[in-house]
Amino acid sequence: MKKINELPPIFLSAIPVLKRLEEAGYEAYFVGGSIRDLLLGRHIHDIDIATSAYPEEVKSLFHKTIDTGIKHGTVTVLFEGESYEITTFRTESSYQDFRRPDHVTFVRSLKEDLKRRDFTINALAMNTEGEIVDLFNGLGDLNNHLIKAVGDPMERFHEDALRMMRAVRFMSQLKFDLEDETKEAIKNLHDLLPKISVERIRDEFIKMGTGPNSRQAFQVFLDTELSEGVPDFAGKKELLSIFPSLKFGPSMESSLWAIIIILLKLPNEQITSFMRDWKNSNAMTTNVERIVELFDLLSEHSPSDYELFKAGKDVLLNTIDVAKILGQPVNSEALVDRYTALPIKSSADLAIDGRFLINAGIHPGPGLGELLTEIKQKVITGELENSEEAITVYLNGLSA
Ligand code: ATP
Ligand code: MG
Repeated sequence: MKKINELPPIFLSAIPVLKRLEEAGYEAYFVGGSIRDLLLGRHIHDIDIATSAYPEEVKSLFHKTIDTGIKHGTVTVLFEGESYEITTFRTESSYQDFRRPDHVTFVRSLKEDLKRRDFTINALAMNTEGEIVDLFNGLGDLNNHLIKAVGDPMERFHEDALRMMRAVRFMSQLKFDLEDETKEAIKNLHDLLPKISVERIRDEFIKMGTGPNSRQAFQVFLDTELSEGVPDFAGKKELLSIFPSLKFGPSMESSLWAIIIILLKLPNEQITSFMRDWKNSNAMTTNVERIVELFDLLSEHSPSDYELFKAGKDVLLNTIDVAKILGQPVNSEALVDRYTALPIKSSADLAIDGRFLINAGIHPGPGLGELLTEIKQKVITGELENSEEAITVYLNGLSA
């Protein structure tokens, strides 16, 4: 049995929790993604604990607990200033709608719990001694860098179609290949994907598109026709096939969306609805719109100082990132230098505001806004110094 001798602190601090369950006569293991990441030497963001104790039994063993997902068997235990999610071993049965199980059944057997997990590398468990329980050759697949369904892949994707997106997501994040039979099953069942909510598809798509192996994963996403079942991608394979041939992939979500929109050649007025179809937030939508806008502008001419000001630093840096990924020549240093040299970076940096203009005798109304914009532009281009005095002189000149 493979044994990990030195466990990272994130596991060590949880051991007393597992021990308490064991001392009460139950089984308790670390399970899922954290074991995979531990064995791969990846960063471990959280750990999952599984136990043979039923939720009520877990609750009776600890002073402070929260019913996080009690119906699904998950209880959060607060222990020595930390919180731990403990989930009862369970099986999931009769998936009639190709997504979540109709109901979960709590069981006392670890094997049953591991069997319901998606991929062999995600079906590993570890006890408090650091010993790895590997019932489905997850260790072999980890070594061979393979994403392989637990059991019959056709059955597993029928149960839950989201797993097909998870497969390409893990390919990208872990730089793994897709095992042949698992890939074949996705090809056969890709048209079940629309049964899954867009939000859940989107989360996996973003992880796939921003992972270190996104280009290879994207190729499989296209080859298996999964791409036909996501918002606004149907019939667009040819345009999207540029993605796998990019020199490198995006690591920021906003860059990913901007690149997809540019590859799809979406006209400006369709960007909002595209982003909405994917259930993206308004903030992400606005951000991506501004990146695509600046990208288009960059490919036509060098942006003016005022255009750089309007874009803002984050959008500028993000657009440079997108241009580099798309292989569009861009003098990023010069652009950043020019941005850095702008006399003001936001309207709040302007030495005056509307109130100042009213006090100077300008009548409130549309003309006032236009004057303010004019002053701002002159300050940005360096024609006018950003000070109350210089602006007062300018105003006096106007009324003279
Ligand atoms: P991440 O690093 O993204 O958190 P993870 O493997 O921990 O990766 P989670 O979504 O947190 O992924 O799920 C935790 C574990 O639960 C998985 O490792 C897997 O064993 C199981 N799991 C999650 N989603 C599914 C699913 N749709 N079908 C089957 N098992 C699943
Ligand atoms: Mg996880």
